[in-house]
Amino acid sequence: MYKICLFGPQGSGKGTQADLMIKELDIPAVVPGNIFRHNISEKTELGQKVEEYTKAGKLVPDEITIEMIQNRLSEPDCASGFVVDGFPRNVSQAKSLNDRHDITHALLINISDEEAIHRLSRRRVCDCGATYHLDYNAPEKEGICNDCGKELYQRDDDKEDVIKKRLNIYHQETEPIFDIYKEKGVFHEVDGKQAIPKVWEDIKKILGP
Ligand code: ADP
Ligand code: ADP
Ligand code: ZN
Repeated sequence: MYKICLFGPQGSGKGTQADLMIKELDIPAVVPGNIFRHNISEKTELGQKVEEYTKAGKLVPDEITIEMIQNRLSEPDCASGFVVDGFPRNVSQAKSLNDRHDITHALLINISDEEAIHRLSRRRVCDCGATYHLDYNAPEKEGICNDCGKELYQRDDDKEDVIKKRLNIYHQETEPIFDIYKEKGVFHEVDGKQAIPKVWEDIKKILGP
């Protein structure tokens, strides 16, 4: 059974590779960023609570995020495995996740900050969770999602100053988690600068047959 956590700087391709896992490994992807964005656009109570943090590129407080993700992971479709993209993002989130789940693979998809900024400025996303790039992974029809036909948009926080803030938080708060998974012997790194199919090939080698 796969219980995978994806790590990597903003723009390293976590969402892109998580989509491949959904399709090829037949496991659900649990993506806090998508859940937050959905709640913000639907103007739910949760959305109103978290909007100021996501806009500023800050982490949403742990007491909101941890409960939301633990609830999601206890739904029936996650019982036979899952991939989490965007959680845990700090040591206390990691501890709470590890209390309930034995993560089988912590995968770091690594790129430089320069590459991250370059990629995110040309990223386009869909509400359904699909991710595109105007140069490297363009949709078949301009501005339209291949998967669901909805209109693509640029995220509010994919602007250079907010991207830099998010990258700083990643280096300061998320990178220290890696030691926890190294100690457990489940940590692996792949070179995220490679083309999308090559990154996927490397991940499949790590996951095994
Ligand atoms: P993350 O979820 O890590 O923030 P995404 O999967 O959203 O990253 O990818 C960021 C942007 O880079 C998207 O526009 C995506 O289409 C593009 N992208 C993803 N992987 C690659 C790759 N290996 N090479 C080039 N562009 C990529
Ligand atoms: P990014 O990779 O740039 O942080 P995401 O789509 O993963 O983008 O998340 C968007 C926003 O949602 C984040 O900037 C943050 O405000 C919030 N968020 C996502 N995951 C978490 C988390 N594990 N803990 C706290 N906040 C989170
Ligand atoms: Zn879509």
